[in-house]
Amino acid sequence: MDYDVIIAGAGPAGSTCARACAKAGLRTLLLEWDSFPRPKPCGGALSERGLSHLGFPLPPELIERECFGVRLHYGPYTVEVRKDRRIAVMVDREQFDQYLADRAVEGGAVLQQEEPVEHITLGTDRMEVRTPKGQYQARCLVGADGANSLVGRTIRPVFPRDEIFAALVGSFPADDREIAARADGLLELYFGVAPMGYGWVFPHKGRFGVGVLGKAMEFDAPQKVFSAFSSSVGMPVDRPRGHTVPMGGIRRTVIGRRTILVGDAAGFADPFHGEGMANAILSGKLAAQAVVDGINGNKDALTRYQRECDRLIVREMKVALSMTQMLERYPKLFLAVFFSDTTALDKYLDIPAGITDYRQFRKWLLQRLPRYLIAMLFGGAGPRT
Ligand SMILES: Cc1cc2nc3c(=O)[nH]c(=O)nc-3n(C[C@H](O)[C@H](O)[C@H](O)COP(=O)(O)OP(=O)(O)OC[C@H]3O[C@@H](n4cnc5c(N)ncnc54)[C@H](O)[C@@H]3O)c2cc1C
Repeated sequence: MDYDVIIAGAGPAGSTCARACAKAGLRTLLLEWDSFPRPKPCGGALSERGLSHLGFPLPPELIERECFGVRLHYGPYTVEVRKDRRIAVMVDREQFDQYLADRAVEGGAVLQQEEPVEHITLGTDRMEVRTPKGQYQARCLVGADGANSLVGRTIRPVFPRDEIFAALVGSFPADDREIAARADGLLELYFGVAPMGYGWVFPHKGRFGVGVLGKAMEFDAPQKVFSAFSSSVGMPVDRPRGHTVPMGGIRRTVIGRRTILVGDAAGFADPFHGEGMANAILSGKLAAQAVVDGINGNKDALTRYQRECDRLIVREMKVALSMTQMLERYPKLFLAVFFSDTTALDKYLDIPAGITDYRQFRKWLLQRLPRYLIAMLFGGAGPRT
C-alpha cells in the first residue's frame, strides 16, 4: 500500500498525470470514486489544442464528429465561420475518460475504482490517504478530483459562487444523417441565453448534446433556462445532468505540502467558452513532471509547477476572463465584434485550433477595436441576420 504518488480522480487531468508518472517509473496509484464507464455531464467538445496536449493520437473510433467551425446565434442574428482545418472533435466522455484511464493503466499505474479519497493525513515525509476500502501512503498526492475537490480543500477555500459556472446538459436522440445535415461540421452556440455564458447544440453519434452554461451567481433557475432553451431549439430534454465548472483566469494556490492540484480542482477551465479538458490534460502533464522532479530531489519542483501553471494557463485564462466580462457588460460590442463581419470570429477560432493564443488575439482585437466601436455606436457595420 506504499506508492510514490497517489492521484485522486481519474478524469482527463488525473489519468493524464497518472500515465506520465507511471511511465517515468513512479509507483502510481490512481483512485477513482466512480467505476468506468461512468457518466460525466459534458459537452464533449475537445479542441485541437487539447488533443495536442494528449501526446498521442486519439483512436478514430473515439471521435464521434469532427468540427471545422462554429455557428453563433444571438437573438435574431446568426453568423458562421468554417475553417479549412479541424478546430475540435466531439467525444463521448464515458468512452473518452475510460480510454484515458486505460492508457494510465497500460503505462503502469494501478487504478482502483469505487474508491473515493475520504481522508488525507500529512506526515513528515509521507501522505496518508484513506478510502472506504483501505489506507495508502505515498510521497505526494495529486488532487484531480474535479470541481468539488476534497484535496483542494486542504489547500484553499472552496470556490466562491462568483467564480464558478453552472452547466446543464442533456441528450436529444437523432438520426446520424439528420445530425450531419444540421451540424454540417459546425458547433452551434447561442449567446444571450445565460449570464456570462451560452446555450449549445453539439453533434454527437446518434444524439445531439444540448446544454446551457452560465455564471452560477447570476444564473437563477438554470433548470428552467435549460428547458426553455432546449425547447426553443426543437430538442426538448426532460432530465438534464448538471455540474459546476470553476472559472479559470484567477490566480489561485495550486500547491500545498506534498500536494498538487490539477484540472477543475485547480480551477483551470476556460472562462470564455467553458472548455476544461484541454487545461486539465495540460496541467496533468505539468504536475507529473513536478512530481517526478520532486521525488528526484528537486526541492523547488512544486513551486515551479505553480509558476508554470501561472505562466502557461492562468495568464492566458485571465485574458479570456476579461474578454468574457467585457463582452457580457457590453453586449452591443460583442455583437459588433463577432456578428458585424466574420473576421474576428475567424481569428478567434485559431485559439482552439492551437494556432494562436488569447494574448495574441487580444492584441489583434485591440488594433481593430476603434472599427468595432464605431460599428457599435453608429451601427455602421451592424449584425447580419
Ligand atoms: C455540462 C458541462 C459541459 C461541459 N462541456 C465541456 C466541453 O464541451 N469541453 C470541455 O473541454 N469541457 C467541458 N466541460 C468542462 C469539463 O467537463 C471539465 O473541465 C473537465 O472534465 C475537467 O477534468 P478533470 O479531470 O479536472 O475533472 P473531472 O473530469 O471532473 O474528473 C474528476 C474525477 O474525480 C473523481 N472524484 C471526485 N472526487 C473524488 C474523490 N474524493 N476521490 C476519488 N475520485 C474522486 C470523479 O468521479 C471524476 O472521475 C463541461 C462541464 C460541464 C459541467
